Amino acid sequence: MKKSKIIPIKPESKTIPLSGTISRKDSHWVDRRGRPLRDLRISVTDRCNFRCRYCMPKEKFEKDHSFLAHTELLTFEELERVAKIFIKNGVEKIRLTGGEPLLRKGIENLVAKLSSLKTWNGKNLDVAITTNGSALAKKAKALADAGLKRITVSLDSMDPDVFMKLNDVGFPLEKVLEGIKAAEEAGIPSIKINVVVKKSVNDDKLLDIVKYFKGTKVIVRFIEFMDVGATNGWRMDDVIPSKAIVEQINKVYPVEPLDPNYTGEVATRWRFKDDGREIGFISSVSEPFCKECSRMRLSVDGKIYNCLFATTGFDIRQMLRGGATDEEIEEAIGRIWSAREDHYSEIRTSETVKERQKNKIEMSYIGG
Ligand code: SAM
Ligand code: SF4
Ligand code: SF4
Repeated sequence: MKKSKIIPIKPESKTIPLSGTISRKDSHWVDRRGRPLRDLRISVTDRCNFRCRYCMPKEKFEKDHSFLAHTELLTFEELERVAKIFIKNGVEKIRLTGGEPLLRKGIENLVAKLSSLKTWNGKNLDVAITTNGSALAKKAKALADAGLKRITVSLDSMDPDVFMKLNDVGFPLEKVLEGIKAAEEAGIPSIKINVVVKKSVNDDKLLDIVKYFKGTKVIVRFIEFMDVGATNGWRMDDVIPSKAIVEQINKVYPVEPLDPNYTGEVATRWRFKDDGREIGFISSVSEPFCKECSRMRLSVDGKIYNCLFATTGFDIRQMLRGGATDEEIEEAIGRIWSAREDHYSEIRTSETVKERQKNKIEMSYIGG
């Protein structure tokens, strides 16, 4: 059987450091640039039922593409164990992503386990999911019952044809809109929409998305197309800077800037002048936010990554399944974060893009 040529699912791993300093500030591990670890993204599956051109282009992720076997994925018990170690050391927020996280069987059970955890300062752990929304109509109630408070649904166009072209599997827009409604009806308190903007693909109809959600509690956030992974054919020319989108929106729906909710927030927040409701922009290319990046990533098969653009991770699964104690795992992660220097978006040039394209990790594996 013909196999896909790129194999992003088995990137090289780095050796877990057995010695080295662990830096702390208050309850958080701190990296070499003084950034505390507060935020963990977990990719719960590398599979997806969509083939968005900017993430898992069909010709690269064909039907016979080798996804990870179920035994390679961290189990919910393993994820809970790792989560507790992270939380003990300052993580306040965990986002479940993928691939498509709602495809992971029993995902609501993981949400329930994580939602019952308390952070270092006695607050409920902030658990969120990013989803393509295709299974949300079915899953919203179970997720809400499991304690999910925040959900982000990716939706790049309100034009049914463009939407189908973007997901490249003919998935109808209507079903995703039904999913968002179901999330509202189930009472999930925070619902956000992620819109990846790509030049000449969906940049001419962004106002339709703003208009559709205007006046509702759903917050729309526009994301600059990023050079993640090695398969999406990223070019700087395809990026529409957030500034241009703000200008476009401001002409029709006047907006004004808002202060960040907290240090390290990735989205720049704005609000509509008429009703005060929020709208956001994630400008990783035109206005990098590495200086305050407090986020670690855990891949589907248990490797930790210090940056979305990292080329290698550290294999924690080996420790989890090899009899390491919680203390040993904790020390290893502490050393990895303490040695972290990553700030890729600040040093991105066409040369780094070319160089990294050779061995960058796909977003579906590392968790978007
Ligand atoms: N499947 C889920 C979804 O689409 O929401 C979760 C995983 S997806 C990788 C997470 C987020 O990354 C989505 O909002 C998606 O739009 C965004 N994303 C994927 N590829 C991207 C790229 N090249 N540039 C910017 N955002 C991207
Ligand atoms: Fe799947 Fe999400 Fe990637 Fe689209 S962005 S292919 S929905 S993982
Ligand atoms: Fe964080 Fe890396 Fe993105 Fe910078 S490029 S904000 S370090 S994930």
